[in-house]
Amino acid sequence: MADSYLPSLGSVEEERLRRKQRLAAGFRLFGKFGFEEGLAGHITARDPEHLDHFWVNPLGLPFTHIRQSDLIRVDANGQVVEGDAVVNTAAFAIHSAVHAARPDVIAAAHSHSIYGKSWSALGRLLDPLTQDACAFFEDHALFDDYTGVVIDTEEGKRIAHALADKKAVILRNHGLLTAGHSVDEAVWWFITMERSCQVQLVAEAALRSGETLKLISPKAAAQAYAITGSAFAGWFQFQPLYARIVKEEPDLLE
Ligand SMILES: [Zn+2]
Repeated sequence: MADSYLPSLGSVEEERLRRKQRLAAGFRLFGKFGFEEGLAGHITARDPEHLDHFWVNPLGLPFTHIRQSDLIRVDANGQVVEGDAVVNTAAFAIHSAVHAARPDVIAAAHSHSIYGKSWSALGRLLDPLTQDACAFFEDHALFDDYTGVVIDTEEGKRIAHALADKKAVILRNHGLLTAGHSVDEAVWWFITMERSCQVQLVAEAALRSGETLKLISPKAAAQAYAITGSAFAGWFQFQPLYARIVKEEPDLLE
């Protein structure tokens, strides 16, 4: 069942196109924000008809070039069933497990963004240091292991298990992964989580000897979380970015 703030589903074809347009916009924004590192990084959207299939970027196409028509559909076995391109093995291994474990998740985002992977090397959760970071207060997890490049679905299942019912997971020595009830939400959580990692790294680096960071109290963090951390808040905060990227790069809708 769709969340009430989302546009009505319309036909399956309309909903599929909407998800693909949002996905293409998400890639353009990831490219603009510098989250691309070679071939790494993937955002997926569950197909509205074939619920165990997802749409993803074709391996090797720059994020900044991706149009909705470039996206490929991958089935539960990792086969490309729509589109003429190769899927990233890690994209299938990780995202298929997340989509299978979380029927509520429409989209998941992962990349090797600089601050996310820097923070991941510390093997710690984010602290409620700022109002924005409170979106992740008691709502993100740590996958406290690194066993090499994720190429099999068993490792993907371990990541999905660590994510559990949360909106994000820090993959140690690797980077961030976020999930949402819409493509909009998953992309927004990734962008803002990356920035919260940057903020905590900068704030910790600026500490002088004997100083400690001032944390937001659990009560205030929970209050801020209720406002900035909801699925609706995640969706809504993506809307200005979507409007901006579509105006700047309308070919993404092709
Ligand atoms: Zn990765």
